[in-house]
Amino acid sequence: MKPLITDAPPAEPAPFEAPRLAPYAASSATSRGRRHPEPAPAHRSEYQRDRDRIIHCAAFRRLEYKTQVFVNHEGDLFRTRLTHSIEVAQIGRSIARALGLNEDLTEAISLAHDLGHTPFGHTGQDALNDCMRDHGGFEHNLQSLRVVDVLEERYAEFPGLNLTFEAREGILKHCSIKNARELGELGERFLLKRQPGLEAQVANLADEIAYNNHDVDDGLRSGLIDIDALRSVALFARQHDEVLQRYPRLAPRRAIHETIRRMIGWVVTDLIEHSRRLLQASGVQSIDAVRRHPTPLIDYSEAARTQTQELKRFLRQHLYAHERVQQVSAKAAKTVRDLFSAFMDDPRLLPPQYQDRLHDTAANDPAGRARVIADYIAGMTDRYAIREYTRLLNARDWA
Ligand code: MG
Repeated sequence: MKPLITDAPPAEPAPFEAPRLAPYAASSATSRGRRHPEPAPAHRSEYQRDRDRIIHCAAFRRLEYKTQVFVNHEGDLFRTRLTHSIEVAQIGRSIARALGLNEDLTEAISLAHDLGHTPFGHTGQDALNDCMRDHGGFEHNLQSLRVVDVLEERYAEFPGLNLTFEAREGILKHCSIKNARELGELGERFLLKRQPGLEAQVANLADEIAYNNHDVDDGLRSGLIDIDALRSVALFARQHDEVLQRYPRLAPRRAIHETIRRMIGWVVTDLIEHSRRLLQASGVQSIDAVRRHPTPLIDYSEAARTQTQELKRFLRQHLYAHERVQQVSAKAAKTVRDLFSAFMDDPRLLPPQYQDRLHDTAANDPAGRARVIADYIAGMTDRYAIREYTRLLNARDWA
């Protein structure tokens, strides 16, 4: 692992890296490396390798059947965690390229950011966190790191995917001080109040831009959001007015899509232009200077931030808290809780590989047992969780 003194930008682009990276971009040449050292890849940059490993892992495929907002079986057109992650990667790459940042790393972080997510979205995460309250808690963001560091079993020479420090730094968006202390050099930045690299900052905001906009789309399609109410949100109304004015005869559905497309374009442009100004004013010349900078350097302008917050508030009130979403959430929370208790009471219900892991944890270690069970439940897709719940507990809730 390289020490944290890489202030000098690399003289030459690393092999297979984009030729015109900004000095403050992450580069394979100045990477702090992998936990288990490996020879450099033959035809790819280090971050391409990270990205490829993420796409090949089992947790990535499971995203296809995990809830974003709508439980997977509610309709084929709604976003799942997989299509969400792909949209994040697309937005993140565009921003990264415009700013001279490392697209491959941005893409890797974007595709991996939700790998640790439980079934049933935030409801599932909160329910599992409740179950784990006396055993160290459960946090999906930390779980994403656990997936890539420990849980994936694909390589002969190391556990997990052995990603670069920069990818792992980007995946761990937030972290409690207690957990940060246990995470060694990766946790350091939360203790020292430092920033992650710019690619991580981009992926973080690309995540927000993606879900704000696709949740408007899914919310309208589901009928849970009313377009007249949505027009109270400035960010939507302004673009919607422009579309209606310019294309007065456009079918409503197309007008919505054209509006959302313009909303994404407007906020992405704002983010790129404002971040460019911040980067210039800061004078940073290396990824470590970015890390030491007191504030993030990828950010919206004040106006875009205010409008984004207004949209988020609207979505919280009108979509996430909608009675129909909440009804499904109540069932989902019960499913996670009941599965957890069933496995805690009788670990023989677990599949063989998880029982093997239980044998490896110390006897009489309820926290160790709970963690194995949390890993198993967190890895479930929505439909697998529903199937196991129905089968093991003779439940009829989802019938
Ligand atoms: Mg996300």
